[in-house]
Amino acid sequence: MQNRPAIPDEIKREVRQRCGFGCVICGFPLYEYEHMLEWAEVQRHVADEITLLCREHHGMKTNGLLPKEDVFKANSNPYNLQKGVSKNVMLYYSGKDVAFYLGNSCFKFEGLPNNAFFAPLVIDGLAMVGFRVEDDKLLMNFVAFDEFNKPILNIVDNELVYDSTQWDVEWVAQKLTVREAKGKILLQLQFEPPGVIRFSKGRVLRNGVEFLVGKNYFFNTNNSNFFGSINTVNCAVGIAVGEPRPNCGTGIVIGGINRYLFDRKEARKFLRNSLNKKRLTSDCGV
Ligand SMILES: [Zn+2]
Repeated sequence: MQNRPAIPDEIKREVRQRCGFGCVICGFPLYEYEHMLEWAEVQRHVADEITLLCREHHGMKTNGLLPKEDVFKANSNPYNLQKGVSKNVMLYYSGKDVAFYLGNSCFKFEGLPNNAFFAPLVIDGLAMVGFRVEDDKLLMNFVAFDEFNKPILNIVDNELVYDSTQWDVEWVAQKLTVREAKGKILLQLQFEPPGVIRFSKGRVLRNGVEFLVGKNYFFNTNNSNFFGSINTVNCAVGIAVGEPRPNCGTGIVIGGINRYLFDRKEARKFLRNSLNKKRLTSDCGV
């Protein structure tokens, strides 16, 4: 028997874009690539002949409980594109020990008490990431914006939804990646329940504040400040940017901040040069 070659990345992306980054039947963002025409017959990967189905609907199709015609129909009018947002996904966060990683910096809370709130990253009074425990249940909240302050991904009390009008959203295993264009990652998150979420790559954006996040750093383009290898443990707020300033234990406060009406190309150039010189660890801006 001939080995079936993998579907090329370009074709996978085209399928994701056309299908609204989720199962065409129910919108669920964890999916498999399904050949609508039987592989045995066509033996080719053509984007228009491939669709997205979640495990449940894939199984139903395989078992003959979901007719091919219904899949074709859903494929021509995918669930997530009708709604403009993805179907919600419940994330299984639990317990009392949580950590948020921004690049290689870690903001941690151990033993989060009932009704307490831990906000690793706050911009202009809004917790971009937050954890709280309510009736012994851990609830995680997260929001990411684009440059125009439009929310592109939202987690409300462990329930995740993303905007399905993005250029590309790809969810593989624990990693969710939102791209603005080819090779341009807006956001890469890694979910490691029960207690860890990593912002491993991309941009944190809100109200003209921008952090570029890389493997070993995060970088504030507004002030050209590097941060790397920061750790806070049991501070109620990890980093607070802008006003109002939190009136509780805060690891890092960045008060006055220029919003990006300026040319950020210069800031990016500065970052690139600095990375080339490996100044990162000595220049962490704390
Ligand atoms: Zn489905």
